[in-house]
Amino acid sequence: MQLFWRRGSLLTVAVLTLGAAGVAGGMWIASRRPPAAGTAASRRATAPGARTAAPAAQPAQTEQRITIPPRSTFLAAIGAFHLDAALARQLVAAARPMYNLARVQAGHQLDLVRTLAGVPEALGYQIDAGHTLWLRAPASAAATAPWSASIEAIPFVTRLVGVAGTVETSLFQAVEQAGEHDMLAVDLANIFGWDLDFYTDTRPGDIFRVLVEKRFRHGQFAGYGQIVAAEYVNAGHPYEALRFHDRGGFLAYYQPNGRPMKREFLRSPLKFDARISSGFSYHRWQPILKYYRPHLGTDFAAPTGTPVQALGAGVVIQAGRYGEDGNMVRLRHPGGYETAYLHLSRILVHVGERVSQGQRIGLVGMTGLATGPNLHFAIQHDGKFLNFETLRKSLPPGAPVPASLRPQFDALRSRYLPELERLQPAPAVATAAAPPARNR
Ligand SMILES: [Zn+2]
Repeated sequence: MQLFWRRGSLLTVAVLTLGAAGVAGGMWIASRRPPAAGTAASRRATAPGARTAAPAAQPAQTEQRITIPPRSTFLAAIGAFHLDAALARQLVAAARPMYNLARVQAGHQLDLVRTLAGVPEALGYQIDAGHTLWLRAPASAAATAPWSASIEAIPFVTRLVGVAGTVETSLFQAVEQAGEHDMLAVDLANIFGWDLDFYTDTRPGDIFRVLVEKRFRHGQFAGYGQIVAAEYVNAGHPYEALRFHDRGGFLAYYQPNGRPMKREFLRSPLKFDARISSGFSYHRWQPILKYYRPHLGTDFAAPTGTPVQALGAGVVIQAGRYGEDGNMVRLRHPGGYETAYLHLSRILVHVGERVSQGQRIGLVGMTGLATGPNLHFAIQHDGKFLNFETLRKSLPPGAPVPASLRPQFDALRSRYLPELERLQPAPAVATAAAPPARNR
């Protein structure tokens, strides 16, 4: 009947906040750092039958491309095109209303398009991943007519690419080593986050395989589209996910058996329906202490020894005796949720242990401040206590692929799973051993 547990609550909020900041920081850095081209090319396996969603723009036959060298200027860089000096100055003047070519950056590209006769017709400067400055020769033959300038968006080319890697230390490390960006690791962690905690569950030798849409502009990586199919093999146990639309047309990820990756919480911390002896309240009379204080949880009256189950998959972050709370188990779940189970007569898990949804984690008791055997259950989201009695009425069921869409889903599965399975991850560099045998 304890009102709410206090120990560790603030600490946990702080840790979660730091964790989130850490991930966001990583993403931010990664988004500004292109992968090393050599690594990417040598390690990335392209899925057999990988398609190009849009045809690559066909460069003009006469197009010539240079990459601006370090510490170069625009005029020095276009020296490689062997343009006459007057035209070069004319280009700088033509660009000025739109863009100052004194600001060109090393590593960016210049494209010169010539007519079949070799006369310069257009010059493109890639300003950033999404924009090109185009300078175009006048349509009239008059040599004095000015060139025109415009800044144009570069269209995406989307390709479905297969990527595989082996974990040495973390998913981030494995994804980077496969020549990809941190963002892909974040996307994978979101898909598998209901089954796995990538901060604690990753093991050296774990494997990821993914079919992902990659966007390119002028041959340069410009971001990820959606993950189409993915697999993560954790300590020999494979988890697979396929992108599919649900009844409402929304895209979601499903296991190959059609069940959703994202699973909701169970509707009760007890296997069997139990009477609620005291509800969630900010103002409740405490019968033992004899004063009002908030009761930020739900008490279920149940006989001592009744099994208590984990509301959802998670990690045990506390398991032990905590004063008024008695024997308590506290779990951390994906998505910023935590649940706590108080007054237990027995604790069946230990700190750091992973528990699955519905797993027995303890037995009902009356340890700590309790007038009789009961389970005090509390749930928090991002540190804020939620009223479970209201919450559980609104928990949407994790709906599987509906029967009417099953043929489509099965077709998708038989198309992508074999493609995924063919991806060969590079072995971990540290061990340089063959990837661990797959447990199938
Ligand atoms: Zn209580």
